[in-house]
Amino acid sequence: MMKRFGCVAAAILMILISSVGGRTGYAQEEPREIKQVAIVIDDFGNNMTGTAEMFDLPVHITAAVMPFMPTTKQDAEQAHKKGHDVIVHMPMEPNQGKKEWLGPGAITTSMDDAEIRKRVEEAIRDVPHAIGMNNHMGSKITADERAMRIVLSVVKENNMFFLDSRTTYKTVVPKIAAELGVPLLSNHVFLDDVYTMQHISAQIGVLKKLLESNVECVAIGHVGAPGKKTAAVLKDAIPRLKERVSFVKLSEMVVASAEKDIVPNPGRDR
Ligand SMILES: [Zn+2]
Repeated sequence: MMKRFGCVAAAILMILISSVGGRTGYAQEEPREIKQVAIVIDDFGNNMTGTAEMFDLPVHITAAVMPFMPTTKQDAEQAHKKGHDVIVHMPMEPNQGKKEWLGPGAITTSMDDAEIRKRVEEAIRDVPHAIGMNNHMGSKITADERAMRIVLSVVKENNMFFLDSRTTYKTVVPKIAAELGVPLLSNHVFLDDVYTMQHISAQIGVLKKLLESNVECVAIGHVGAPGKKTAAVLKDAIPRLKERVSFVKLSEMVVASAEKDIVPNPGRDR
C-alpha cells in the first residue's frame, strides 16, 4: 500500500510515464485487447510419449483423447483432475494415410448414417469429461456433407462444441456447423508436423505472427513421436508469450455462434 503523502507525486509520475507510452506498474489499468491462445494437444489415450509433460505445462490445455484406447479413461481423468479441458479426438477417414493410424471406432464414408451416428455416440460415451470434439485425421470425412451432418448433429445433441482441426481446405464443417447451430472453433496452426525442435520453435513463431492479426488462435500439438519435443518447446515459450497473451481452454474460447471466419488451411491433406 502506498503512503498517503506519496499519492499525488505518484499519480503525476504515472501520468507523465504513461503519456510517453512507458510501461509502469499501472500498465494493467490501460485498456488493451487481450489476445487468446488455446493449446490443444491431440492423440492422448494410448499411453503416448510426452503425456505427463503435456499435462504438467504451466498453462491449462485442451486434451483431445482418442476413444477405445488403452489409456483413454486414465488420460481423460488425469487431464480433468489437472484442470485441463477434455475433448473426444474422433478418428475419421483421411484421403491418404494408413488405415491403422485411424484407431478403433473410426468413421468412414462407406458407412451408412446409422453406423456413423452409433460410432460418434459411443465415442462420446467412452471419453470421460469430454465437452467437445475434434477430428483425428479426417480429410475425407470433414469434406463430406452427409457424414459431417451426422457427426455435428450428435455433437449438438450432447451440447458439445466442435474444433475443426482443418486437415483439408475442402472442409464443409463451417457450413454444416452454421446450418445446425453447433459452436465451432478452427485450428490455426499445427505445431509439430515435423518432429524437430527447430520446426516446432518455428511454428511458435508462426503462432506469434498469427496473433498480430487474430484476437484468438488455436494451436494443435501432439503426444506421441513429437510429444516430448513439443512439450519442451511450449514449456520454454509459454512464460514469454504469457506477457502478451492469455492462455485459455477451448471452453473459454468457444462462442455460442457458429459464425466464424474461415481460417487458412494449416494442415496437409490427411
Ligand atoms: Zn490425431
